[in-house]
Amino acid sequence: MKVTVIGSGDAFGSGGRLQTCFHVATPDLEFLIDCGATAMIGFNGLGLDPNRVSIIFISHLHGDHYSGLVWWLLHARHVAQRTAPIEIVGPAGLEERYLIAAEALFPGATSPQDRFKVTFHELHAGEDFEISGITVKPFEVCHPSGAPSLALRLDIGSRRIGFSGDTEWVEELVDVADGADLYITECYGYETPTRYHMNWRVISENLDRLRAKRVLVTHMSRDMLDHAQSIADDRVVVSDDGLVLTLP
Ligand SMILES: [Zn+2]
Ligand SMILES: [Zn+2]
Repeated sequence: MKVTVIGSGDAFGSGGRLQTCFHVATPDLEFLIDCGATAMIGFNGLGLDPNRVSIIFISHLHGDHYSGLVWWLLHARHVAQRTAPIEIVGPAGLEERYLIAAEALFPGATSPQDRFKVTFHELHAGEDFEISGITVKPFEVCHPSGAPSLALRLDIGSRRIGFSGDTEWVEELVDVADGADLYITECYGYETPTRYHMNWRVISENLDRLRAKRVLVTHMSRDMLDHAQSIADDRVVVSDDGLVLTLP
């Protein structure tokens, strides 16, 4: 299994990085975790084929995590000439928020004209969701977004990926990371607390409790990026746009 970092930046493009988006490829399946506004830019930059992606998982309804769906679906219609169905999986209200964003940015963009089927699926904390052989366990986190914000634990065959989304520390993150081959965590700040967001000090204090083989820190502010080189722990990888991790 291969995980490619499409966007490792915060909402503001700190360090010139793209917004949150991860591409996961197995021999049978390709999917995204989050789809920030810049996802299409990253895909084109890395030469990945969007038509191979069949599922997009969304953690929460902030623009730097879901608004890329607007450009993704426009591109699928008008450029990629997509014909395969696509499944979009995320918090309650995702479809409505997508429609509002798409119509605001490109009026008429949501009129039914597709050669492919788009299906939205809602996740609810505490309820497992199964799709294409993936089991998703959603956990509610502490990050107001006008809808329940979620951390996601994905079991893909014998591999497990945990994804924190955006949140300040909540004990549920121990479960999100539990037994994961890769735990991807927001890390907006270095030491300075920011309400509803994570920082490296809190992650490092809880690292022994996060029973993941590897921890990938992402969604970094300028402050965090300035300190990233000081992180020296074998379990931790600092993300970068275009970074590829193989989960053996
Ligand atoms: Zn964010
Ligand atoms: Zn957010």
